[in-house]
Amino acid sequence: MSEFLSSRFSGLEEYTPGEQPQDKKYIKLNTNESPYSPSKKVIEAVNSEEVKDLRLYCDPDCKKLKTALAELYEVSTENVFLSNGSDDILNFAFMAYGDRGAAYADITYGFYSVFAELHGVESQIIPLNEDFTLNTDAFKGLNKLVVIANPNAPTGIAISLDTVEDIVKSNPESVVLIDEAYVDFGGESCYKLTEKYSNLLCVQTFSKSRSLAGGRLGFAIASKEIIADLEKIKYSTNPYNINRLTQAAGLATVKDNGYYLENCKRIIETREFTVAELEKLGFEILPSKANFIFAKSNKISGKELYESLKEKGVLIRHFEKPRIKDYNRITIGSREEMEIFLKTVKEILGETV
Ligand code: PMP
Repeated sequence: MSEFLSSRFSGLEEYTPGEQPQDKKYIKLNTNESPYSPSKKVIEAVNSEEVKDLRLYCDPDCKKLKTALAELYEVSTENVFLSNGSDDILNFAFMAYGDRGAAYADITYGFYSVFAELHGVESQIIPLNEDFTLNTDAFKGLNKLVVIANPNAPTGIAISLDTVEDIVKSNPESVVLIDEAYVDFGGESCYKLTEKYSNLLCVQTFSKSRSLAGGRLGFAIASKEIIADLEKIKYSTNPYNINRLTQAAGLATVKDNGYYLENCKRIIETREFTVAELEKLGFEILPSKANFIFAKSNKISGKELYESLKEKGVLIRHFEKPRIKDYNRITIGSREEMEIFLKTVKEILGETV
């Protein structure tokens, strides 16, 4: 840190992204990426013509992509916001709606507390129940920015649409942000409720179910007033925040939605297979509606399993937080990757017991 940094950032603890190691090729089950490549249409869309056009600025309104996405979700383009990954949207929301503070769970996406700190937003941390389900009643009637990941990360546990609606209804004076990064793997999206509730902000990403983590593309569906707020902040920070190649890739992705729905189905099947196999090995696994599972072994500590797997070329995610240190978050890869993962886990357990 230099002596020049503004004092308001000196104590800021930045977000630690999952490892992206470059030393060797791992079976990468640590950052919830898709095991499947973007569709062929996406690969065709990001072509040399688009590369040549990189000399020109991209469309700050992302008109084509926004129109396609609005058609897919059967909403108006005024109800759609696009940004550089959904992290960007979360950042904007904390900036825009945090005046009266923000409420979120103790065990949830780690970036919420970083954004709160970054923007001087006071946080109300609501502990998950003993079984890691959301204490939904505690989110009612707060009238401050409410932020809920549904399904939650890293637990994978989802709440129902009725519960989302109850929370939204009971906080009429504030924005309720539902972070649906993992909703396509079995959760219920709340985007349709945005027609009824002007305080609901539904946030999704192309990073997980749509195989575009490296492209950086997120979107939100909400009332046109909320979308206008987000646009105001985007146009006051970086209007060209979705580059030309990502816009082309995003458009082709939306047009090939069937391919991605199929991939989600495969990932859900592989998740159920992995859960069943891990249970046979004595693991306890929280009920997941995401493309990852949160699992704890009765034979080996979370940290030891993480380290042993890494040594053998398989990366999973371990969080050294007291409530969850016995667990590991394991992304669901392809069936083949999960077979190698399971074989390696068996080897490790065989070595330790
Ligand atoms: N929300 C949750 C719950 C996440 O786990 C992630 C991925 N790290 C994000 C949002 C951000 O995803 P992206 O910025 O890639 O859209």
